Amino acid sequence: MTDYKSIIKSNAFCLVPWIHQMIDTSGAHKLCCVSQGAILKKDDDSDYNSSRNELKDSWNSNHMKSFRKKMLDGIKLDECDSCYSDERVGRTSLRQNINGGWLNSLGEEEIKDRIIYSLQNNYEVLASPVYLDLRLGNLCNLKCRMCHPFSSKQIADEHYSLLKNNPDYNEIYDSMDIAWPNDSSLIQEDYYNDNMNSEWYESNLLWDELIEMIPHLKRVYLTGGEPTLIKNNYKFMEAIIERGYNKKLSLAFNINGMNVNDRFLKLISQFAEIQINVSIDGIGTGNEYIRGNSEWEVVDTNFQKLMSLDNVKEDWHRSPIKLFVNSTIQVYNILDVKNLLDYVTNCRLKFKKYIDLDFILLNNPKFLNVGILNKKIRTKCIDLLDEFLNESSHLYKDDSITLNSVHAVKNLMSEEPTNSHLLKYFMNYTEILDKSRNQTFSNALPELYEMINE
Ligand code: SF4
Repeated sequence: MTDYKSIIKSNAFCLVPWIHQMIDTSGAHKLCCVSQGAILKKDDDSDYNSSRNELKDSWNSNHMKSFRKKMLDGIKLDECDSCYSDERVGRTSLRQNINGGWLNSLGEEEIKDRIIYSLQNNYEVLASPVYLDLRLGNLCNLKCRMCHPFSSKQIADEHYSLLKNNPDYNEIYDSMDIAWPNDSSLIQEDYYNDNMNSEWYESNLLWDELIEMIPHLKRVYLTGGEPTLIKNNYKFMEAIIERGYNKKLSLAFNINGMNVNDRFLKLISQFAEIQINVSIDGIGTGNEYIRGNSEWEVVDTNFQKLMSLDNVKEDWHRSPIKLFVNSTIQVYNILDVKNLLDYVTNCRLKFKKYIDLDFILLNNPKFLNVGILNKKIRTKCIDLLDEFLNESSHLYKDDSITLNSVHAVKNLMSEEPTNSHLLKYFMNYTEILDKSRNQTFSNALPELYEMINE
């Protein structure tokens, strides 16, 4: 396949390996944030890691080139399953977003040059990446139930304590196909200590390269961990401003809404384009139950503070700060979908500003994935979404992210349950975390508790 237009239209093709690099919270270089098990490896099977390697080492590694080759040959990567699952239920995937968005922002000629060059040069890409995803450590103040040790130090502490002291928890993790990362070694303590406690994000090798890359970058996604707590995110934003690139590149953050501080607000106000995704997974008790340590009043107050910023405009396309609510759809919040939608709608009406709600569909761990839910809960969820569509869809544009998400969840809920046999793991896991966190499923989410146990 050498025709450029048919390559980029292929369902297997994604621009990521031509424009983007990611450093995960352990310093490992990875294909992208939603890819599974796609840590870039050297020929000797060791990982590329920013504590000892530059991004340019992995950019044209044989592993990266193998991803490019497969995509150019129209072969779907196993690592990209979460994008294909989203597309199956009609949710716009990251692949589709990136392909569409970057064709516009980088321009067709530039994209074409990168692809053609790689085709003619053994899958190498000469130009630098323009889009970085940087996770400079796993410092976080929360311990969300669906998150994992690599994204939160709080979870790592709880996880290793449970692994040592609780045989039932071990049993869940003996069955690794139902758990978090595909590679079970990633959540073992030795691996974690070797990779997470190295403070790799302080290395001069990394900072020299990041500073050198600034003039080439168009977009940087800073998360973690909680990006507003990670001090090196501030250092990087300041470095961009000092060099005068704050009006030339855009930044994106995923924040948990617990720490919207003045230093953060002051720094982001100096950039021409910022995207802030605020993760909210339930309203009130629901959010506090799923997102351990969160306090609804604080999250709500901070969200309203963001909504009231002058840089969040009524016209979304012209808004220097683009605000989203991200809700990770999982078992725990499947009956909270309408509350989440109503919350966003009410904020929009109150502040007269356009924001969207994006339902992110959780894949792993499988026992928190909605595939385990029974027919009755599915029907109830669809009814709630229909209620929202009847009441409020006229307030959203036809092609809005919110409506796309709602229809995707409806489609997902219309499917037959796929993993009912994992319900016992869900119940065990929930009980173990409840004990560890002094919470109670039946009190926090009474309706879901009853419907699961019927
Ligand atoms: S298809 Fe999806 S998972 Fe694969 S590289 Fe692109 S965005 Fe990442």
